[in-house]
Amino acid sequence: MNAMVTLSGSRQLPSLGLGTWRMGESAAQRKSETAAVRLALDTGWRVIDTAEMYGDGGAEEIVGAAVGAALRGGGLARGDLYVVSKVSPHNATVRGTAQACERSLARLGLDHLDAYLLHWRGSVPLEETVASLEDLRERGRIRAWGVSNFDLADMHELLAVPGGKNCVTNQIYYSLGARGPQFELVPWLQRHGIMTMAYSPIDQGALARSGALRKLASRLGATPVQIALAWLTGQADVMAIPKAAGEAHLRENFASQSLVLTEADQVEIDAAFPPPKRASALAMR
Ligand code: NAP
Repeated sequence: MNAMVTLSGSRQLPSLGLGTWRMGESAAQRKSETAAVRLALDTGWRVIDTAEMYGDGGAEEIVGAAVGAALRGGGLARGDLYVVSKVSPHNATVRGTAQACERSLARLGLDHLDAYLLHWRGSVPLEETVASLEDLRERGRIRAWGVSNFDLADMHELLAVPGGKNCVTNQIYYSLGARGPQFELVPWLQRHGIMTMAYSPIDQGALARSGALRKLASRLGATPVQIALAWLTGQADVMAIPKAAGEAHLRENFASQSLVLTEADQVEIDAAFPPPKRASALAMR
């Protein structure tokens, strides 16, 4: 069973997407990284997360090459894909955001982004960035916009600026090893119909080595990473975006979508990774 998230009450998306941080950083890896993203598309991944910051545009170029080849190869239409990129805070002025978006589109070889996020909050007033994102949306260069690394107080401020309520997602560090947002931020996003995109969902690979998850995994005939991903994607309006650059990881992570955790599994998980008892500041990677 593939879990889905509903975006702004309309479009249905898979609750699993592909991360691309650390891609595009080295010329020697370009070929294999492009092949990995292409394989991901062939395997069924449909959501791709990238950013102008990753590899200084290199990750977007890799995604562009892989997506371009897949679209030219037939069998995949642009409308089947959901491509997310991010503007860096130092570019997030009215003009800077528009120009950064055009550069990202050129590197990706696309005529629109499905979602464009403010990577984290910088010194540019939110009103300014939101006005630019709204303008890009109205001109069809992006279909939707969101934010990243916004804590609850930032979200309150965002919703108070003109157009702020059109935010569709907040991409945050959220995983079994970083459960803090589960206390109030994630429930608040759920109440407001704003999708949570969980980044570093397997704690940058560390959860693969968790002894507690290994024990549960062997009982369920799954892997520790599949449990960590299913724990996230089983939550309402939560999408996990693990990064993987090898075939085995791509397939293993994709297969997590058929894993459904029972209440007894959740109890075992809570014993190893205790749920938060109070609000804490949002962690960042
Ligand atoms: P992650 O997805 O938690 O972990 C990625 C690491 O885990 C890679 O080293 C990967 O290795 C390894 N891995 C993947 N599948 C595995 C498996 N089945 N078994 C064992 N190891 C596995 O960490 P992340 O890259 O930090 O986060 C995911 C994505 O979120 C990023 O790529 C990026 O798109 C986004 N992100 C956003 C922000 C933000 O500020 N908005 C911050 C961080 C990340 P291989 O590559 O060798 O497969």
